Amino acid sequence: MTMTLSKKVFVLVALPVVFQIIFVVTLSGLLVRSNEVARREAMAKDVIANSNELGKLLYDQAMTASRYVATRDPVSVKHFQKLKLEIQSKLHYLGTKLANDPANLEHVLKMNQTYKQVDSTISTLVSDSGQLREPASALANVELRKEVGDYTNRFLASGQSLTEAMKSIERESPEAEAQSNLAVMIWLAAGVILNIILAFSLAYYFNRATTSRLGILVDNTSRLSNNQELNQKLGGGDEISHLDDVFHKMAQALAEAKRVKQEFVAMISHDLRTPLNSVMWVLESIESGFYGNLSETGQERVTAAHRSLDRLVKLVNELLDIEKIESGNLDLHTEIACVQSLFEQTRESVLDFAEKQGVEVTFQPNDLEVNCDSSRIVQVLVNLASNAIKFSESGSKVTLSASEGTAGVTFSVADSGRGIPPHMIDKVFERFRQVDPANPKERKGTGLGLPICKAIVEAHGGKLTLESELGKGSVFSFFLPFH
Ligand code: ADP
Repeated sequence: MTMTLSKKVFVLVALPVVFQIIFVVTLSGLLVRSNEVARREAMAKDVIANSNELGKLLYDQAMTASRYVATRDPVSVKHFQKLKLEIQSKLHYLGTKLANDPANLEHVLKMNQTYKQVDSTISTLVSDSGQLREPASALANVELRKEVGDYTNRFLASGQSLTEAMKSIERESPEAEAQSNLAVMIWLAAGVILNIILAFSLAYYFNRATTSRLGILVDNTSRLSNNQELNQKLGGGDEISHLDDVFHKMAQALAEAKRVKQEFVAMISHDLRTPLNSVMWVLESIESGFYGNLSETGQERVTAAHRSLDRLVKLVNELLDIEKIESGNLDLHTEIACVQSLFEQTRESVLDFAEKQGVEVTFQPNDLEVNCDSSRIVQVLVNLASNAIKFSESGSKVTLSASEGTAGVTFSVADSGRGIPPHMIDKVFERFRQVDPANPKERKGTGLGLPICKAIVEAHGGKLTLESELGKGSVFSFFLPFH
């Protein structure tokens, strides 16, 4: 597994190319052979036709000579000369046709040689002026005829041998052609099958070597985002293993940063919350006159300091909650809880604030029960109710309600306050999101309350939703399953 990705891609392309080149070269060789068989067959036919023709021409020439001797017709002399030229040209043609076939060329050379002898013998009958003359005597005539007959027979025998050789080529041709066609078919079929095998083998190799490794890399990215342990490190020296290496290092760095953050938050929870609580306790004691009476201004300042400290403690608590949610340490202690009691605790917590805002918090008595972490669900209800009070006009109502379904209980906190614009409906559940951060009412908040509520509800297996109409009010609802 030491091959780099670029080398693997090169192999993936080069192997089929090499295979195709071998395939095409071999196939062209087979086709050339097949053409050669067809060419030899055509040549054999041509040679046979010319050889037969030659026999006829020679016979014609001899007959022309005899005719002249018998009739003395001058036209025969011209015909005799014409036939001679034709025979010579055909012999030359056959010579060039068989130039690359020495065995068969031999027959043509013999024909040529015997024809020359026939010709020179016959030519003794032709005078220098082109007239035929009588042989010296009857005996000479007989010998001359015999000599011409002998040479003619030898010429025809050579022609016959040539024809036989060509016929055997002709006979073998269909078989050779069939063989060569079969070879082309076999090679084509083998080529297609090998091509398919090669393609699948390469795909398998590439899949095993690359795609599956890339899959592990992709799986690691989702594991990282889901806070799961990463897969074992990929071995090898290719680009994927380098990437995997970097990814593991990055995950380690992230885990380290997370650990540092958790330590920091733990440090805040101990080192900041404890003194804040002591200061709060002292302020409450001063406010209640435990250390003696204060002037009116002193009382006002202490109350203001108490309120600010309250907000600070709330912020620290919210930051700690967010940290718990992010690190997956939000532990729930579930038990069967009365919904009525949850509502009462909620109203109790927001009562001061509601009175100050002139808002009434109401709910219908009920005997519903639900399995949940009561303190966390009260935290959700308090946060939703506080928001509802904060954004409602004096004299209006905030209503808590609950209804039972087949699978669980749905809680709602409804107000008739300013409402939330449609484009912000999903966004208010994100951290530090506020509809109008410049608004003094919102400045008192942190933008962490709703994301915490959402996480607590989801940790119970439920869902927090919002319906709101600008200027008319909002209804926050959450569903808690029975188990
Ligand atoms: P905080 O109240 O601390 O700012 P939250 O996460 O609880 O943070 O709320 C986020 C924002 O959602 C608020 O700042 C406010 O703009 C908007 N919001 C929440 N509840 C209501 C409501 N009942 N009516 C109008 N706006 C609301």
